[in-house]
Amino acid sequence: MDENIPVYEVTDANTRLIHIGSFGDLWRERLQNCDLTLAEKDDCLMENSDVAQDLGCSEETAAELRLICGVDALKCSENEEADPENIPEDPSLLTLGIRKKILDRRRETLIIERACRQETFLHELEFHAVGKRPEDAADMVDEGELVLTLNIVYPVIFRKHKEYKPYQTVLVLGSQKLTELRDAINCVSDLQIGGEFSNNPDLAPENICKDLYKSAFFHFEGVFYNDMRDPQCRDISRTTIEWAESRDRGYEKFQSAKMEDYTFNDLRLKIGYPYLYCHQGDCEHVITVTDIRLIHHEDCLDRTLYPLLKKRHWFWTRKCSVCLMYTARWVTVNDSLAPDDPCFFCDVCFKMLHYDTDGNKLGEFLAHPYVDPGIFN
Ligand SMILES: [Zn+2]
Ligand SMILES: [Zn+2]
Repeated sequence: MDENIPVYEVTDANTRLIHIGSFGDLWRERLQNCDLTLAEKDDCLMENSDVAQDLGCSEETAAELRLICGVDALKCSENEEADPENIPEDPSLLTLGIRKKILDRRRETLIIERACRQETFLHELEFHAVGKRPEDAADMVDEGELVLTLNIVYPVIFRKHKEYKPYQTVLVLGSQKLTELRDAINCVSDLQIGGEFSNNPDLAPENICKDLYKSAFFHFEGVFYNDMRDPQCRDISRTTIEWAESRDRGYEKFQSAKMEDYTFNDLRLKIGYPYLYCHQGDCEHVITVTDIRLIHHEDCLDRTLYPLLKKRHWFWTRKCSVCLMYTARWVTVNDSLAPDDPCFFCDVCFKMLHYDTDGNKLGEFLAHPYVDPGIFN
């Protein structure tokens, strides 16, 4: 068997090492144009005679099968058109029964707004790209392109998630550069503003960490892929490499490379194996490839939308502890005016409580700009 066909190395956990591009080649060699084409579906529908030949049955049987098993058979007839909000008592369909229960519970418990917001969010995420074809033909995804599903785990960013680390799921194309994935990973660490500004809060710089500290790397299979696109970028993997080499610590020899020089097709990876993305010095995210497949004609075929976000954990926003309405923008510590330590405020309440009308500081406290993870919702 070809070494690039994935087989388990650890059962139900991860595969052996495969070269991504070669794995794609194996598929493309075996499949026919009809399987690979990204043309609209009807152009590639099988004839009854082909179905009959494939299944070894008569053409009449094939035609009957198509009628009974076709997608049209799944739709309800026109006079029983379903209304997703108004479900009849005693629905015969199990799924409708479940939906009815959820709707009833929601009506009773008044969590409508919150639940709806999350639902809308997930719905929008799912539908902004489904089946999308590019307006400009030049942005069309190539036939036979690989699609990798990646899970990106967030570092522990607040106490609430100590045990449960939220994550995002993205799809990348095999021919995309590692830097394209890096640019698509949203993390609050990139948006932080460092410093203490209690004496002059208006001076909190506009500069976010992403613009100040541009270095980052992925670590796949003993190689650190450093983002070196900007002259300010540094090879932040060097310390680790030198540490590993300074003594015999039992590690294989680590290497470093430029993130911008590699696509996913160039990599050798294990599916299911935890790898690392590190940025802002010590913000570390575990990255796992959970699936690799060929692009399908019903996928989003607009290249410019990849890496494509498929799923993201919903963050609860931290509200201002005074008005309980707006998202927190400031966090104070050792605050003689605040009930909690640390305490969170929106911009208006923070300034109203801590400064007089001339902008003079009242009381003792330290103030840091705060970036809420909820902004990604
Ligand atoms: Zn991060
Ligand atoms: Zn407020």
